[in-house]
Amino acid sequence: MMKAVYNFASGPAILPREVMQAVQAELLDWGGRGYSVLETSHRWPDFMQIMAETEQLLRELLSVPDNYHVLFMQGGGTQQFAMVPLNLLGDKKQIDVIMSGYWTDKAAQEARRYGAVRLAADTLSEGATRLPDQAQLDISPQSAYVYYCANETIHGLEYDYVPQSGAVPLVADASSNLLSRAMDVAAHGLIFACAQKNFGLPGLTVVVVRKDLVGRCAPHWPAILNYQSYADTHSLWNTPVTFAIYLAHRILKWLKDQGGVAAIEQRNIEKAALLYRAIDESEGFYANRIAPRFRSRMNAPFSLRNPALEADFLASAQEAGLVQLQGHRSVGGLRASMYNAMPLAGVQALVDFMHLFMHRHG
Ligand SMILES: *Cc1c(COP(=O)(O)O)cnc(C)c1O
Repeated sequence: MMKAVYNFASGPAILPREVMQAVQAELLDWGGRGYSVLETSHRWPDFMQIMAETEQLLRELLSVPDNYHVLFMQGGGTQQFAMVPLNLLGDKKQIDVIMSGYWTDKAAQEARRYGAVRLAADTLSEGATRLPDQAQLDISPQSAYVYYCANETIHGLEYDYVPQSGAVPLVADASSNLLSRAMDVAAHGLIFACAQKNFGLPGLTVVVVRKDLVGRCAPHWPAILNYQSYADTHSLWNTPVTFAIYLAHRILKWLKDQGGVAAIEQRNIEKAALLYRAIDESEGFYANRIAPRFRSRMNAPFSLRNPALEADFLASAQEAGLVQLQGHRSVGGLRASMYNAMPLAGVQALVDFMHLFMHRHG
């Protein structure tokens, strides 16, 4: 018997157990074919059908309008930090970034290689404990696009609104919260997300882009970094990450069976409320420094009043089957990630453990 464990890793992260069992059961014999999906050409009709269905499931779950491409790529969220400016700058010389944390900062550093970066707001420099309000955004009509990160995975900051950018296209890094909540795709020019938080394995990155924004990439940039290459070939410009797509297909079907994004969003609200309540009711034994309105449902960083107890907390939690609760190296402390596949029972087990630990040390 495998030990029952709840995994709070920030990504790669917990996957639905039923999906992994189904994958394991057919790993050597894919649907009775006598060979593995791992051994299948990306151009074999059975695999092409998986790709088409994966796109269809994404369109359905996210209510993607018809005037958007859904593209599959590699290179992670980080490759999009380069592809977005290379493809969307066009004749413009600058972009606007809503600077909110580690991941927008990394994206801005990359974008500066290709154009000027203006800050439409900057809540990172004041400590990354909140996000700006719409009224605080200063957006230039000269900018090629406005860039924001919908969920700052490391700081635990998540938008509760979609920034209004007027006529300037809006770009979202939704790597750590795509498919965890309803998202107004039509309010965006482009949304990208790597798969290893809510829908599978590293390697696969999904880009949802308005069709009229594709085709602006300068001809001297590599074709593999041009959205047009993927749009023209149904994402078969080169060999795609077949296993990660197959797994995403399974996870999206699982999500649909759960009741889709609206149902999972309710569960995510419940899970986050449970954990933040435990933190807030601990009278300072545990603390989360984020303004309550912008607390992330996906990633909850927290600290102990006595940081010397951290190693004991992590070891005792592990003993109790609650693993990978270490905070990101850049901010320290602890962090519980509660992606779609984390059941409410897992968060309840964590909260129960936190009470116990507090009473032992309080
Ligand atoms: C994980 C993450 C990334 C980085 O993705 P890679 O696949 O490692 O390149 C980018 N943005 C956000 C918000 C993330 O959570």
